[in-house]
Amino acid sequence: MTSVTQDRETAVVEAAPKRLYINGQWRDARSGETLEVLDPSTGQLLCRVADASEEDGWDALRAAEAAQKEFAAVPPRQRADMLMRAFELMHQRKDDLALLMTLEMGKPLADAYGEVNYAAEFFRHFAEETTRINGNYQTAPAGNARFIVRKEPVGPSLLITPWNFPLAMGTRKLGPAIAAGCTSVLKPAELTPLSMLALAQLMEDAGVPAGVVNIVVTSTAGTVMEPLIRSGIARKLSFTGSTAVGKKLLEQCAEKVLRTSMELGGNAGFVVFDDADLDQAVEGAMLAKMRNSGEACTAANRIFVHRSVIDSFAEKLAARMGELKLGRGVEDGVQVGPMVDAKQQAKVKELVDDAVGAGAQVVIGGNTGTGSGFFYQPTVLKEVPPSARMWREEIFGPVAPLTPFDTEDEVIDWVNDTEYGLVNYVFTHDLTRALRVAESVESGMVGLNQGAVSNPAAPFGGIKESGLGREGGDTGIDEFLETKLIGIAMS
Ligand code: NAP
Repeated sequence: MTSVTQDRETAVVEAAPKRLYINGQWRDARSGETLEVLDPSTGQLLCRVADASEEDGWDALRAAEAAQKEFAAVPPRQRADMLMRAFELMHQRKDDLALLMTLEMGKPLADAYGEVNYAAEFFRHFAEETTRINGNYQTAPAGNARFIVRKEPVGPSLLITPWNFPLAMGTRKLGPAIAAGCTSVLKPAELTPLSMLALAQLMEDAGVPAGVVNIVVTSTAGTVMEPLIRSGIARKLSFTGSTAVGKKLLEQCAEKVLRTSMELGGNAGFVVFDDADLDQAVEGAMLAKMRNSGEACTAANRIFVHRSVIDSFAEKLAARMGELKLGRGVEDGVQVGPMVDAKQQAKVKELVDDAVGAGAQVVIGGNTGTGSGFFYQPTVLKEVPPSARMWREEIFGPVAPLTPFDTEDEVIDWVNDTEYGLVNYVFTHDLTRALRVAESVESGMVGLNQGAVSNPAAPFGGIKESGLGREGGDTGIDEFLETKLIGIAMS
């Protein structure tokens, strides 16, 4: 891959939509306000985007409400076709989508291409699910009645997405919403609105009717979204983001008893037993830790390695981390981009400094990068104690904290010593132990001898304070469907 030219960067940003998408119209915020989108690899302004206020939010929700009845009646095959066209357009436009994502979010271009592909797969997967929404016909136990059970769209839905996967977290919600026949208002993160606006353009081109998908970008998320949530007009909130914000939104949803899907934070344990293939475990750790430069809810946050192999594991991991090229995601060969903003960079630094203060040793890295962007060096820490803040808090950066363990029971206790429960990873060649540990760790997902579990065809989600509900798989569409019973007297 060769580096992207400045002219090409400018052209892609210029061509990207920068206005709100409401009821099939591209429009400025009613207030005329705009917000800044920065390139995190330089800290420089990329462009300005319309900044919605509460009034714009209401316009979007009313548009979704008005379009709901008609959209629910669109035949499943037609909804599937819309999603398939959107899938194909994503592949046709992958170069622009990937570059736009890299520019606004910072991830290396190769990661951005990976995300476009992953994001598009949600449309294909849910296109295929659209025509399989089914029900049931049953005889009542007493024989005097029949039950028809049918699935109906939940109704207008509010979708809120984070900055770390600006495209895929959107398609993971829009795909099942459209498949189920739900209209929606989607609010992307303020830091990364361009990917979602480009997606809205693409969905319009794919023939998604006006009002079905509405995009509201805002610098005042709470002010704009809270009244919409509390109104009860939308019947569903699907949120991906931090546990702290998710808890607040759950309270708001309680007022009108909205259906909720909550994809929240993680604190993944990554366990390497003494019989594991160390090279395979190191490659797994590179994936689980360094995907998206460490800014992933699924990122290995605590790496537990059996004491007898930890030195060798640390050496191999440090060698791989040391080879990584840090830089602007658009440059040739870059594998680690900047943190998304100065706040995130400062948080990573704070957590590393805290761990070192608590007794951890730096094997490699351990500092911010040079230049004006928000860089942090790929870092490996050894002997990270349970008292370190990063044992409990998401690092969200390229930092691999290693802790030695002695017994299986001890490591299971440590893995579960967190309020989170999204994913854990286990490396061992002992099948019985693999299954025993996989069944004992408290998480919605487990990677066995692999450092990535996400796949549109599999149910993604967490337990404990990592969330409620699942996205993807054959259950993802249920999050946007209600079950209705029609009881029929037969005598
Ligand atoms: P965040 O601060 O919770 O923000 C997520 C989204 O919520 C953004 O669009 C944000 O808008 C919006 N938001 C913030 N406050 C809000 C409020 N009061 N009312 C309504 N919306 C509000 O999380 P983040 O920092 O963007 O993302 C990182 C977090 O997401 C991490 O904890 C990560 O683990 C989690 N995550 C989870 C998954 C998963 O599938 N489980 C996947 C990816 C990320 P603004 O940004 O515009 O303020």
